[in-house]
Amino acid sequence: MITALVTIMVLAALAGLATVVTAGAPEEISLADRIDALLPQTQCRRCTFAGCRPYAEAIAQGAADINQCPPGGERTAKALARLMGVAPKPVGKEFGVVPDHPAVAFIEEEACIGCTKCIQACPVDAIVGASRHMHTVIAADCTGCELCIPPCPVDCIIMRPAPTVAR
Ligand code: SF4
Ligand code: SF4
Ligand code: SF4
Repeated sequence: MITALVTIMVLAALAGLATVVTAGAPEEISLADRIDALLPQTQCRRCTFAGCRPYAEAIAQGAADINQCPPGGERTAKALARLMGVAPKPVGKEFGVVPDHPAVAFIEEEACIGCTKCIQACPVDAIVGASRHMHTVIAADCTGCELCIPPCPVDCIIMRPAPTVAR
């Protein structure tokens, strides 16, 4: 009986130790994670992928080049080249123009018909508004991806320089 009790206690102690070791193990940081951390996270899709994370995964798998992100510009391309151990190269013109300054979307509210198409297009939920009511961009949340501009049926969304306040 005592032997059985001691055995149970030892097994319980070992199980507890295993739990602590598992919980304390650091999470592995993948190559895609490290690439993703260098990307600007605008989710603009100019790299031809569905967002920054899919582009990061494609680079990690050797399925995309390091120069496909216009919002990140030369700085991001250089950082990606360093990480991947390849020669740096300028952002490919086929992916769009490298912006001089960060920009955010602005809705000319008197023209807005409240169709909600911009809300559906925004990848970061930076637009607020109800159906058939004026819509507004939350500048602090806008990444400047411009994905809301093409769907607007009345062309009332424009890009403006981003506020200079720290985000
Ligand atoms: S172009 Fe750059 S910022 Fe835009 S989705 Fe691709 S990786 Fe992200
Ligand atoms: S408001 Fe427009 S430009 Fe800003 S993040 Fe949303 S879709 Fe992109
Ligand atoms: S898409 Fe244009 S018209 Fe429609 S809600 Fe957005 S800003 Fe207003």
